[in-house]
Amino acid sequence: MPAIGLQVVPDFILPGGISVAGQQAVLRGLTGTQQPRFWTAPPRHRDKDPACPACRNDDYSCGCGDYQSAELLDWAANFGYDLDEWQEWWLAEATGTNPDGKWAAFENYLVVSRQNGKNQCLEVRELGGLFVFGEKMIIHTAHEFKAAAEHFRRVRDVVTGYDELRKRVKSVTPPTATRRSSCGLRPPWSSGPAARWSGSRSPRGCGSWPGPGAPAGRSRQTALCMTRP
Ligand SMILES: [Zn+2]
Repeated sequence: MPAIGLQVVPDFILPGGISVAGQQAVLRGLTGTQQPRFWTAPPRHRDKDPACPACRNDDYSCGCGDYQSAELLDWAANFGYDLDEWQEWWLAEATGTNPDGKWAAFENYLVVSRQNGKNQCLEVRELGGLFVFGEKMIIHTAHEFKAAAEHFRRVRDVVTGYDELRKRVKSVTPPTATRRSSCGLRPPWSSGPAARWSGSRSPRGCGSWPGPGAPAGRSRQTALCMTRP
């Protein structure tokens, strides 16, 4: 007898907490398109290329271009991140790699209206930089420091909420009344904060996120996230 393919469609939660049964949400188009109409990314081996030595790693079913992103997304699921399909898609594109292990994309841009979940993408990317990729420096800036500090608190809460992460952090530098332009997290391998959140004390422009610094063998990569629609 042929196998019957089953697909679980999760329920969809509307703003305000109204739940719509999964299939109904799909039929009514509530989940929307999960990829932007316009996007571009450098080529990489998404699927295994028989001619590529890096793709021959049997530990992964994907090509060498998605080793890092697959690891990041698997890891993030252990720490409360139930990402939407588009968020996983963007993170996979942002952390795609060339066969030599360097980032495929030097810069990553994500343009999303407010309150749509772009900060979760950055949280996962920053936490991944600290705990999966072992990056030496990650800088998160925003148009106002209070926006950066709010983001810092969300990342800190994830770190302190899981023993596995908390034990790997040497110190946390929270914002204080006298320290109103930066805060950070310091992992044991760093002599100073490896992840910093900073911003202006006055509202100005859009948010940007230059970083992270290159771990061994990787090229430097930067990302910019627009915070205004
Ligand atoms: Zn490859």
